[in-house]
Amino acid sequence: MINKVGSPSEPDAAHKAKWGGFNDRPEGLREVTPAEIAKGHWLGQHVQFMEYRQMKHQSTANGWPLQEIMLYFLDDNTGYGLSYDYWNETVQWWLFGCEHEWGGELTAEERSHLTTSTHHPYKCKKCGHFHYTDSSD
Ligand SMILES: [Zn+2]
Repeated sequence: MINKVGSPSEPDAAHKAKWGGFNDRPEGLREVTPAEIAKGHWLGQHVQFMEYRQMKHQSTANGWPLQEIMLYFLDDNTGYGLSYDYWNETVQWWLFGCEHEWGGELTAEERSHLTTSTHHPYKCKKCGHFHYTDSSD
């Protein structure tokens, strides 16, 4: 697997089409509490891409002032972000992307990955993301 973390490369066209540009808020962006972060599914996920943005502010009509945020894109159609306010000495945590709802129906191809009773499938009803865990590990 190629690790893109730390890559100086720019987001490609497909990334921009899905997640927006430098001043955009990524789809599904929502501020979360530290407690929600602590229970996050993302702790075991691989960061696929990091992106710094100056995005439109969520609470003003014209989007100004811009908010700085560092976005961490995960391989399951989600991600998390971190922003801060230097002068007010505050930090904000964010999640974005799909709020997965597990229990989607598996395709034959997806079922073919489940070769032992220790493989447990997860498929999102909303976005179709599929992965499985192996409880024998
Ligand atoms: Zn999903």
